[in-house]
Amino acid sequence: MLPDLRPPAPRPGADPRGVAVLGSTGSIGVQTLEVAARFPDRLRVVSLAAGTRWETLAEQARAVRPERVVIADESAYASLRGALAGTGIDVAAGAEAVRALAEDSGAEIVVAAIVGAAGLRPTLAAAESGKTIALANKESLVVAGALVRDAAARSGAVVIPVDSEHSALFQCLVGEPEGCVDRLVLTASGGPFRERPASTFGAITPAEAVAHPNWSMGAKISVDSATMMNKGLEVIEAHWLFDIPADRIDVVVHPESIIHSVVEFVDGSSKAQVGPPDMRVPIQVALSFPDRWPADHPRLDWTRTGPLTFEAADTDRFPCLGLAYAALRADGSSPAALNAANEVAVARFLDGSIRFPDVPRLVEAGLAVARPAGTLDDLLAVDRDARRAASEARAPYTV
Ligand code: NAD
Ligand code: MG
Repeated sequence: MLPDLRPPAPRPGADPRGVAVLGSTGSIGVQTLEVAARFPDRLRVVSLAAGTRWETLAEQARAVRPERVVIADESAYASLRGALAGTGIDVAAGAEAVRALAEDSGAEIVVAAIVGAAGLRPTLAAAESGKTIALANKESLVVAGALVRDAAARSGAVVIPVDSEHSALFQCLVGEPEGCVDRLVLTASGGPFRERPASTFGAITPAEAVAHPNWSMGAKISVDSATMMNKGLEVIEAHWLFDIPADRIDVVVHPESIIHSVVEFVDGSSKAQVGPPDMRVPIQVALSFPDRWPADHPRLDWTRTGPLTFEAADTDRFPCLGLAYAALRADGSSPAALNAANEVAVARFLDGSIRFPDVPRLVEAGLAVARPAGTLDDLLAVDRDARRAASEARAPYTV
């Protein structure tokens, strides 16, 4: 699934590379367009896709001038088409059109930045059609890592991680021989409630949960960071990307978010990738690999970085991390059930219908529907059942 990790040779093919940005109106999507705008000779955005916010999508399309834009929400089609009338940009709507965009031959690179399991079909389509996938949508690997891996193996597609921890691991592995990894260490910021006593978790508001100390991100991943489910999903993501079992993937809390992750090798040597927290860096790495392009992203000032600290993750206060490890060890459809139930739990927490400590409980309710599942249809059926279980689970559990 990964590209050749031998020391990089020049990339074949001509610049500019065609880029499709799926989830262009989101946090990663917007930063991707920012990176692309700096390198007009190297990157050409050929298509954009988003969920519901047609005004923002239209604005982006007018600025970027792609060939095609797709809005998943079919009820926004007429408005989007009206807004882009006379531009010559092709407009389509619906989930199938988003999927078709991902396999479109006009793009060499597909930036998978849709949030949640909604990104799975487009990611799979890109993997089936041999694209280079700059992958932010970790949920697609959590739900169907084996299917994405197998599709990529058949088509020759490669996946380059955008998630900062996995980009770090990827960069540490470039040039290293196969079989040299002892352990992966994913760093975690610990989120906004790292120091908060569990006895007060019932009073956490959605606004507090989305206010991440180090990163500005979409609402769903921000809540995932607050529950530490994000790190759990990332452990599963790392398993599929790097083919390392759960027992050799560790998590360490590092509140400063300077060390983005560490690879420990069989000879006792370790490599880490470091830098100020800024998603434009891993986005650019994914778009430029195997080259590196000059950019003025902030650098670390080592004399002002201050102490870098580390502590163990607290799975008593943050049970979601333990649930994700358990789902990965159980294999089958457990990660798909975990992810689906978590998506429902996060949405219910954000709309105020459950409290923060209910999130892991709803996830447990969803995990109960896991069963052996191999095909995409099996996994999507588990996803549906887990969503139902988490929607119907009684809340609030907490008193
Ligand atoms: P976001 O909520 O800001 O944006 C999500 C994007 O997906 C939006 O453009 C939205 O329109 C689109 N979308 C939602 N449902 C859709 C659908 N059904 N069809 C098509 N488009 C749809 O989210 P984000 O923070 O940018 O995160 C995107 C992904 O990247 C997530 O999987 C997240 O875990 C991952 N990620 C994000 C960050 C970050 O810093 N934001 C870091 C690492 C990984
Ligand atoms: Mg991450």
